[in-house]
Amino acid sequence: MHHNIKDMTGLRFGRLVVLTQVANSGDGAAKWLCLCDCGARTEVVGRALRNKTTRSCGCFAKDTQRIHGGCGTVEYAAWKGMWKRCTNAKSKDWERYGGRGIRVCEQWKDFSVFLVDVGRKPRGKYSLDRRENDGNYEPGNVRWATDVEQARTRIVDLTGQRFGRLTALESVHGMQGIPMRWRCRCDCGKSVEIVTYSLRKGVTRSCGCLQRELLAKRNKIQRCGGKSG
Ligand SMILES: [Zn+2]
Ligand SMILES: [Zn+2]
Repeated sequence: MHHNIKDMTGLRFGRLVVLTQVANSGDGAAKWLCLCDCGARTEVVGRALRNKTTRSCGCFAKDTQRIHGGCGTVEYAAWKGMWKRCTNAKSKDWERYGGRGIRVCEQWKDFSVFLVDVGRKPRGKYSLDRRENDGNYEPGNVRWATDVEQARTRIVDLTGQRFGRLTALESVHGMQGIPMRWRCRCDCGKSVEIVTYSLRKGVTRSCGCLQRELLAKRNKIQRCGGKSG
């Protein structure tokens, strides 16, 4: 052993514990045999241990890649797809997601947070599903589900229900047979098609006549005020 080489036996560097010194590397640097926490043995140059460039047998990089980058995993693909549907107006599914107000919660910008909340995809034909179809992508509303499970929860029958002045008459099937809109009769006699989301959230409550009446009333009040003044 060279006189200025510090004995590193027994020291820990990340996941590695130094076992013993081995033959120097080609350029004369001291090399050490290390035991990794995963059970693998690896030979590392002392310098790489001390300046923290090597902290495992290589398993650490593999683990973090799987969790953070995760490129190529089904979960990562699902995560990317979810963001695309909700934020990219050029996405083919935009109309059914971002286009009708479906959002992804802030904390899921971080893929690893999303993965912890939703978990790994089970084996088989599972995909991301929102329990409440009008709800956002957020903890509690998202799970892995099969197509059959998804179809069961997705269809909400609004036939005969009242929403302000509107009465839902029948569903108007959108893409892939999913009822997206409802043909409604307004109390004024007009017939209109309204998306499920707008009805259930109370966004649309008439064929448009309600707003017109309110506007007219407001204008009238303003005119009256003008005359009396
Ligand atoms: Zn290892
Ligand atoms: Zn109306």
